[in-house]
Amino acid sequence: MTGMLSLIMNANNLFDFGVCSYDNIVDKLIECENKKRIPPHAESVICVVFPTNVDVVFDEPNEVFRLRRVASQMLELTCIALRKAFSEYKFEWFLDDSPLPDVTTASLCGLGAIGDSGLLLTPQYGSFCFIGSIITDLIIPETGDETSQCIHCKKCINLCPAGALSEQNGFDKAKCVKYASSCDCKNSHTFLLRQGAAVKGCNTCREVCPYNSKIGTANDHPFIKAATVPGSIYTSDGGYKPMGGLGQDKFRKLPDDF
Ligand code: SF4
Ligand code: SF4
Repeated sequence: MTGMLSLIMNANNLFDFGVCSYDNIVDKLIECENKKRIPPHAESVICVVFPTNVDVVFDEPNEVFRLRRVASQMLELTCIALRKAFSEYKFEWFLDDSPLPDVTTASLCGLGAIGDSGLLLTPQYGSFCFIGSIITDLIIPETGDETSQCIHCKKCINLCPAGALSEQNGFDKAKCVKYASSCDCKNSHTFLLRQGAAVKGCNTCREVCPYNSKIGTANDHPFIKAATVPGSIYTSDGGYKPMGGLGQDKFRKLPDDF
């Protein structure tokens, strides 16, 4: 079954994923509307990291939006394939709007360590990534422990312009320039701020992290290629189709103000 899962994930160009037991995260869920979408009797969480360490500059809201749209499409198509392969089970995907604490969940899935910056430090993309997840009532073997470690150099803490990071209290989102700007509304500006690596705005905790100096770019990742081809839409066979070619009803409706 793990082999089948890998086949389906890889066929949809999702190569950077891990699995943890839902039981390990259930007491850390975020109170939100989307908790209702979690399948009853959930057993497993599949976490995916999407790279953003690219040479391409995403400085327009529509360009940054494409990252989210393409990632959403990849997750949706993967869930369609998983539902076909495991027809007795439910699969629900989440991105940005997840009731799961993404960084903690990804870390439990063995995808990276939680840095003192509060960011996920992955071996392949450092903290230049964002996280999606699929929750299912299918029992899937867990994928293991963290593969990287924060070296506690404190650069992110000492250089944060807002004093939002501290050794004693960790990350204080109310002080974070990025987070504080996005907490009241959900619009394109909020989204830009959330994407961190891909947009202008405070990104100091990523820029100073020595972890990020070791990584290359992900320019050739299918996710980035799909997101950087204007007017294209991602398809599971690795190709692109004109917008609308797959039918927008397949994809969850995005907020009007995106
Ligand atoms: S994004 Fe900027 S303000 Fe927020 S924690 Fe990182 S360095 Fe501090
Ligand atoms: S800057 Fe240093 S302390 Fe902060 S997350 Fe990176 S390695 Fe950890």
